[in-house]
Amino acid sequence: MSRIFLRAAAVAFASVAASLLLTLIVVPAMGFPMSRSVWLASTVCPLVLAWAASASSFWQSDRLQNAHRELARAHAQLAAAHRRLSEKASRDDMTGMLNRETFFAALDGSRRKSDRGALLIIDADHFKRINDSYGHLTGDEALLLIAGAIGRGIRSGDVLGRIGGEEFAAFLLGATEVEAKHVAERIRREVELIRFRPVDERTVPLTVSIGGITCGESATVSDLMRAADRRLYEAKNRGRNLSILDRELPEAA
Ligand code: GH3
Ligand code: MG
Ligand code: MG
Repeated sequence: MSRIFLRAAAVAFASVAASLLLTLIVVPAMGFPMSRSVWLASTVCPLVLAWAASASSFWQSDRLQNAHRELARAHAQLAAAHRRLSEKASRDDMTGMLNRETFFAALDGSRRKSDRGALLIIDADHFKRINDSYGHLTGDEALLLIAGAIGRGIRSGDVLGRIGGEEFAAFLLGATEVEAKHVAERIRREVELIRFRPVDERTVPLTVSIGGITCGESATVSDLMRAADRRLYEAKNRGRNLSILDRELPEAA
């Protein structure tokens, strides 16, 4: 408030100075004497009018600036809330991984940018048995352990998602077949190393089967999914706890 008062006073004094200068030039030039009323009019009028007008205009502009600042703050808060919401909507609540929809959108985006990479589908083995033996809640704990092991197995920068109940997928950006096989084996091994003890000291083994494929140049996301799924099916058929990424599969597979 005092800032507005001071700025208005400065404008008012400048107006008085300009008015006095003009009066001193114009009134004698017109042949009139510089009477007391002329002095009074040329100081009081600009003092009152300029001060009132500039104070009101400074006050208005101050209010506008405040409103603008508040609007900008509300906008930033809204944008942050929007970011948090869309981040939450893109994640699977249980594991924190990308959900199915977001994973495939990310995979599609990566495919458009580069031809190189590999897709892995990772499925927990005989998971129904865990639920049947220990209950769904304990099954959830096992699933979280598996999700953690998969997270440790991938490389930083790879895209990871939960694409089904006990099914996960990873897109290994830029990976060659050799690198992808290495990552798939690391994931398989990390899961195998989990010491899951749901009731007593007895360890219940947790394993995953993995099917994977490296990207062909013109392969679409569905081509890749189909190919990785076939290899996952083959890994299940061959006894599970296995990763298969070979380009060629036996005809029967
Ligand atoms: P396979 O080795 O052939 O994959 O056998 P599987 O038992 O893992 O496969 P199946 O498709 O027969 O069963 C999947 C099980 O995973 C059944 C389902 O209840 C369980 N499951 C899926 N999502 C969840 C989950 O979020 N929590 C728990 N606890 N279980 C889940
Ligand atoms: Mg399964
Ligand atoms: Mg499954």
